[in-house]
Amino acid sequence: MHSLETFAQSKLAELEAQNLRRWLVETDRDAGAIAIRNGRRLISFCCNDYLNLSQHPEVKDAAIAATRRFGAGAGASRLVSGNHSLYRELETRLARLKGTEDACVFGSGYLANLGIIPALAGPGDLVLADALSHACLMAGGKLSGAETLIFRHNDVAHLFELLRTRRKQYRHCLILTDGVFSMDGDLAPVSALAQVAREYDCWLMTDDAHGIGVLAEGRGSSFVSDVKADVPLQMGTLSKAVGAYGGYLCASRAVIDLIRTRARTLIYSTGLPPAIVAAAIASIDIISRDTQLRAAPLQKARRFTRAMNLPLAQSPIVPLIIGDPARALALSAMLEDAGFLVTAIRPPTVPEGTARLRFTFTAAHQDADIGRLSALLRETV
Ligand SMILES: *Cc1c(COP(=O)(O)O)cnc(C)c1O
Repeated sequence: MHSLETFAQSKLAELEAQNLRRWLVETDRDAGAIAIRNGRRLISFCCNDYLNLSQHPEVKDAAIAATRRFGAGAGASRLVSGNHSLYRELETRLARLKGTEDACVFGSGYLANLGIIPALAGPGDLVLADALSHACLMAGGKLSGAETLIFRHNDVAHLFELLRTRRKQYRHCLILTDGVFSMDGDLAPVSALAQVAREYDCWLMTDDAHGIGVLAEGRGSSFVSDVKADVPLQMGTLSKAVGAYGGYLCASRAVIDLIRTRARTLIYSTGLPPAIVAAAIASIDIISRDTQLRAAPLQKARRFTRAMNLPLAQSPIVPLIIGDPARALALSAMLEDAGFLVTAIRPPTVPEGTARLRFTFTAAHQDADIGRLSALLRETV
């Protein structure tokens, strides 16, 4: 047999034996946090569409109108001829929401991090990343060629210690963290990190993929404290609460101009389809005006953590740590039988021994369904 085939088959067998093989399951979505699988309508607790804006009539209409007017695709990189006029509008709105001079939109959140980090740091520089940072922050650090050190999760004292002993050896230093941690739902101590960054002349970047739209009037984790945290690089995605697709960086004018000139994932990748950019604009307008909507996901998550006797939710993401991947899979199957879609999250997405059920709450969840879900879990787990 061809060695490629042998490699693929033996690798799959090895993953299967460890319960770590992954499968794509056809899933359609509908309004009201519904997922349709194998012909069954399930209540989904594993979708990041926190405000259900991907299903909002205004957002869908904006996408359709943009396709009619501008076409289905961008046709080229933004730096060539793909920079259709909707981009300026979206970037202006993002900068306003985040309180920065400017913003730059990328093809996705993952692409944003792969572009931003190597544009700001390289060999001779230091990248310090929280241990539970999203995979694409880690990938960006690696790609940059800078020395990358990991500090213990949310441990400002450990970060401080690393800076005290190592900072002098490097030219620039970039500190990376999720604003809201994607698999645990806890928040980074953004203000404390900003203070340490200032003290050691480091550049703090937060990945607020799960903060925009749902925390602090939709403005995200930098705005949770009474005083806005000084975060010069606020990155995030348009694919979660914003209900569309794409990544962004909000920063000063000079930083954004540099990123537009140097970020390779912006330069060498095609611009977003006009429909997606129009959808994001419509969503941000809704987020800016609908105070009740943007507060709802956190309220729903807190209803669940109170019912489950778990620590009060800090974001719409609530983990229930199970440990063993096989048991996490079995619990997920049990919930699916009962009409709830909750995927099991296993290593390497989360550390070894911490396989879990990860619940995400959206504005469309009904209190009665959250009650049924928590009652079922209390009986079983
Ligand atoms: C989802 C996610 C991303 C990736 O964003 P995409 O737009 O889906 O590529 C980046 N960072 C964090 C923390 C995420 O949760």
